[in-house]
Amino acid sequence: MNAAERAARFREIRDKVEADERLSLDDGILLYDPQIPMQAVGELANLVRERKNGNVAYYNINTHLNPTNVCVYRCRFCAFRSDLRDPKGYVMSDEQILERGREATENGCTEMHIVGGLHHQRPYDWYRHVIELLNEHYPQIHLKAWTAVEINWFEFQTKKSIQWVLEDMRSAGLGSMPGGGAEIFHPEVRDQLCEHKANTHAWLEIHRTAHRIGLKTNCTMLYGHVENAFHRIDHLLRLRELQDETGGFQVFIPLAFHPENTKLSDIKKPSAVMDLRTMAISRLMLDNIQNIKA
Ligand code: SF4
Repeated sequence: MNAAERAARFREIRDKVEADERLSLDDGILLYDPQIPMQAVGELANLVRERKNGNVAYYNINTHLNPTNVCVYRCRFCAFRSDLRDPKGYVMSDEQILERGREATENGCTEMHIVGGLHHQRPYDWYRHVIELLNEHYPQIHLKAWTAVEINWFEFQTKKSIQWVLEDMRSAGLGSMPGGGAEIFHPEVRDQLCEHKANTHAWLEIHRTAHRIGLKTNCTMLYGHVENAFHRIDHLLRLRELQDETGGFQVFIPLAFHPENTKLSDIKKPSAVMDLRTMAISRLMLDNIQNIKA
């Protein structure tokens, strides 16, 4: 595509955004073309942001709890996991978990984000117990817990349905679900990153079920590793499609890949410009998700 064609295509995209029309796969891929100035993409995204949310940004005071880092999986991008017998592996005791709840309360936290590894020897009841324990002692804290990857593991452990697991967790105190584990949905990438854990169909089906029973969830995309612009836009469109169906996503979070201490440590960390461009393009493509988290 020469410069004149590129400029004409960008004008078409700008017209669509101004007319509040939906962008296509090809539109999204073009916005990743480095020849399209980042500022122009950002300006368009800002138009959508102001249209949706005026000049208001939302925040909450949140803390993270990772009850264990021991994990049966070995995702290539993961710097967190530990083997069962590795000295860096840990499992938090009830006392440690309650201490984190106390700290969170003292610091004015309104939400706790709880995710961790899929421990070889901890049964489903332990994961449920973590939620119940915190909910009993700190009922004022919203518990946003377990990614779809963990819910998928609980299905495997309990041999029960997604709905059963989610309702059982909700009865223990689960308030909503985080959006992790989505990574990149396209199999060309997913199979290279994490071929064993919950696949794209499972991830989407778990969020669909959560939305159906009234549990709100978030959604994410991990970018800046082995994927390209097509994979990123394909990912956003799959989220947009599910949101059309259910309306249950509260916020989309673009997650930049951090290569240090992973099996992909030879890859360079995404640049700040890439971060801004991805945030802007996400705002433009996800016309049905109210908020983008920065
Ligand atoms: S499932 Fe989660 S904790 Fe386990 S290796 Fe993958 S990203 Fe890491």
